[in-house]
Amino acid sequence: DPLEVDTKPVDPLPQKTGVFGRAPRRVLDDDMLEQLEELLISSDMGVDTAVRITANLAEGRFGRKLSTAEIKSALAEEIARVMEPVARPLPIYNKKPQVILVVGVNGSGKTTTIGKLASQFKKAGKSVVIAAGDTFRAAAVGQLQVWGERAGVPVMTAAEGSDPASLAFDAMTQAEKDGADLLMIDTAGRLQNRADLMEELSKIIRVIRKKDPDAPHNTVLVLDATTGQNAVNQVEVFRKMADVTGLVMTKLDGTAKGGVLVSLADKFALPIHAIGVGEQIDDLDAFDPQEFAAALTG
Ligand code: GDP
Repeated sequence: DPLEVDTKPVDPLPQKTGVFGRAPRRVLDDDMLEQLEELLISSDMGVDTAVRITANLAEGRFGRKLSTAEIKSALAEEIARVMEPVARPLPIYNKKPQVILVVGVNGSGKTTTIGKLASQFKKAGKSVVIAAGDTFRAAAVGQLQVWGERAGVPVMTAAEGSDPASLAFDAMTQAEKDGADLLMIDTAGRLQNRADLMEELSKIIRVIRKKDPDAPHNTVLVLDATTGQNAVNQVEVFRKMADVTGLVMTKLDGTAKGGVLVSLADKFALPIHAIGVGEQIDDLDAFDPQEFAAALTG
């Protein structure tokens, strides 16, 4: 199963290699480009994207003698160029409530991300309601309640095993009644039975559209950086289930440098709203293409 989560952490670009090795300056030739391509692939960028980035790098520089620093900064520049258009915070609309559906596989960091986002919105003066839509996992509901308390945001729950769509509908009603600015809906992330999950998500969407035909206004897919290229498959699967409007990449504080984000930007051009950089409530940063590219190229 391509969606089997691969827990092997992704290596950053190797620091001491033949490419960035002894020679102070090297000619940017085919051999050099091939080595750079391999480096990018090993950073989890995927073959297609690595090929494209090195081709862009070669343009106007092929045959020139470059220092290691010059190559690194040119590479970072090419990566940042791909990433700049997708670095976009979650848009806030003048809608009450703005409905944010949060999807992703279990363990990707959905609950944590909802808590962090709720806290940021709250601090920005927005009133937020959270709906614990993963009604089949009691632990997930409990975790979300903990995050709600931390963020100072109410969490609506339903009996274990009850219909998530009906909870979503009740949460919409409550959010409207309270005049809440934002309603964030957590969802299940079990991919063992994809048909089931798809039915569940489409029912939630159908039901909330009875209240607001434009809802959900955002469908945010949460991805775990440590799953590497697997994230590409996850985007493909979730795009079939829901109209994914943006991404949050979690666990970029670990060994994973998130080369897969470059693949995602290259393949799907979906906005990257934020990145998770730890387990605490404030560990959610805006995505910075320059900083990211610099970290990736070492
Ligand atoms: P869910 O099943 O998708 O709701 O995932 P959770 O929110 O429960 O997160 C799964 C695990 O990943 C938890 O142990 C979180 O603390 C951890 N986690 C989530 N986001 C981050 C992050 O950005 N960095 C780190 N290091 N851990 C994270």
